[in-house]
Amino acid sequence: MKLICIGRNYTDHIAELKNERPVEPVVFIKPDSAVLPKQQDFYIPEFSSDVHYEVEVLVKIKKVGKHISEEFAPTYYDEISLGIDFTARDLQSALKEKGLPWEKAKGFDGAAVIGKWLPKHKFEDLNNIDFDLKKNDEVVQAGNTSLMLWKIDEIISYVSRFFMLKKGDVIFTGTPAGVGKVSANDYLSGSLENEEIFTVKIK
Ligand code: ZN
Repeated sequence: MKLICIGRNYTDHIAELKNERPVEPVVFIKPDSAVLPKQQDFYIPEFSSDVHYEVEVLVKIKKVGKHISEEFAPTYYDEISLGIDFTARDLQSALKEKGLPWEKAKGFDGAAVIGKWLPKHKFEDLNNIDFDLKKNDEVVQAGNTSLMLWKIDEIISYVSRFFMLKKGDVIFTGTPAGVGKVSANDYLSGSLENEEIFTVKIK
């Protein structure tokens, strides 16, 4: 199982990191070992002093496919969730500056939180889902999937040109503005349309 992540998919987050607006989706992969086991606390790794949360809508792939057209993309997923793409921002900035790959900053153990899965038919319109992340009960990120530069079906079509999608793969669709640092004893919770999807304690 692989985690396929889209970067720079919300204009407001592109502006906050002073990144350029991409002409094609920014894609990276996290290994399956990055998944934070359910109910487990997140431990800030010793190699970073600036780990950021990035709340993202998730899509679970249900069958094998490659070169999937946008039209048929909906037949490749039935479930939606919310998660966190934890990022060692200090390490990522240093690697970006040197033009080196980001994997160490994004793919470390525990760097991917995956919430509970909801059937997609629960949502009237997948391109209009509200979601938010609270840190210590205060909303720090709030987004709506209508603000994505590339929508779910476009992402599936695009990434399947490069990577064969397999059953169980998870797509992280990018984060809106409001990313920030986590500290020991923080408590994060994420919601889709006001339904709590995950909680994580930071250690
Ligand atoms: Zn992200």
